[in-house]
Amino acid sequence: MNRSFSEMRAKVDRGEAVVLTAREVGEILDGGDGLTLEDVDVVTCATRAVMSGTYAVLSFPVAPPGSFRRAIGVWLNGVPATVGPCPNERLGVLDLIVFGTAESIDDPRYGGGHLFRDLVEGEEVRAEVETDGGSCLEVDLKLADIPTARLFGTRHAFRNYSAFVNPGEERIATIFHATTFDPCWRGASVSGCGRMNPLENDPLLETVGVGTRILINGAEGFVLGRGTRSSPDRPNLSGYADMHGMDPEYMGGFATSAGPECVTSWAVPVPVISDRILNSLAPADRSIPLPVMDVVGRKEIGRANYGDVWEGTDLEVSFDPGGCKRCTACHPEAICPTGAIGFVDWKPILDRRRCFNCGLCATSCAGDVFSARLGSLRFAGREVPIVVRQSDRLRAERLAEELKGRILDGSFRMTEMTERISP
Ligand code: SF4
Ligand code: SF4
Repeated sequence: MNRSFSEMRAKVDRGEAVVLTAREVGEILDGGDGLTLEDVDVVTCATRAVMSGTYAVLSFPVAPPGSFRRAIGVWLNGVPATVGPCPNERLGVLDLIVFGTAESIDDPRYGGGHLFRDLVEGEEVRAEVETDGGSCLEVDLKLADIPTARLFGTRHAFRNYSAFVNPGEERIATIFHATTFDPCWRGASVSGCGRMNPLENDPLLETVGVGTRILINGAEGFVLGRGTRSSPDRPNLSGYADMHGMDPEYMGGFATSAGPECVTSWAVPVPVISDRILNSLAPADRSIPLPVMDVVGRKEIGRANYGDVWEGTDLEVSFDPGGCKRCTACHPEAICPTGAIGFVDWKPILDRRRCFNCGLCATSCAGDVFSARLGSLRFAGREVPIVVRQSDRLRAERLAEELKGRILDGSFRMTEMTERISP
């Protein structure tokens, strides 16, 4: 049986639609109760992860017209920006593109992702501008001073991703680990939010297409099309949203041993227009394959599944400052990829809004301050403990809940795609 998108949206508008999150659908299915088209009209799905293909387009005035001819170099909090494509000759206006993975010239653990979050948090950011006339300008500004600030994704919201291990004998610096990767299969890094992922719920892209309204980092945006390197097996999307409406908690920087990375979140509504969509909803995590890759050769060396990552594990890291042994140097504080750990009067503190729940502190604390069951990957006759997660399923579930609330209260209006995407 099929239902039209407009039928679904009219039902939402009348306040008669049943909207469930992918987590809620999963719980119903896990409980053994099946679902029919009578039981659900829209499912909200989400993912939050390190997403390298993120960039911002910023445009703002830095000086009165005629002050300089062209800018040739710009740094925001030390993060290099690409000037253009518009040269804005003599207008005193900058058009910039900033990569989420660009590294500050002042701090190797600060990058574009950190900058985007600082802007959205309302922090003041320093812009340094080098002009073709040899002059240098310095301007302090906030997001409110930047009329155009849009975040784009070139390859976001993969249907699901991969795990990485280091089978070699040398430690490896990589974007897939916050520290250098231990050798000899000693730990695994994982990405992907399993059954919460939007394209896991609409794998054939029957409802998610060009023009679908979505949330990126909590702000309304749209799907633009297929992402780079998208394929039928591993589809992903490109999209954009206005930074002015974003929530910093869903975004940020993530320091890795190979440079700063960018954290981004997507939430997507999936209208349940057919039995085929219904039968795709919230597949069990253990039924979703998780390819395990050699971090050096990037070749698949086995297959685990997302049940190893998200079933019977802790989505949130526990924090007990009383368990601190006051070590001479605190390893978790030094390696936390989001800078969420600090000390006040020799007592550890955790900034929950910054914490990504990656779990690295739980595997490196000498006392009992940080703990979490992170699970192990089972593949090719091996069992390799997960030591760092580059996806934050807890926030993905929260974002899906937020989207559900916005659909129900009428503040988020679903749009029908204008064109299907072929992955
Ligand atoms: S889980 Fe631990 S290491 Fe990871 S972001 Fe949170 S505080 Fe930092
Ligand atoms: S490693 Fe753990 S026990 Fe040691 S100082 Fe840090 S938080 Fe405290």
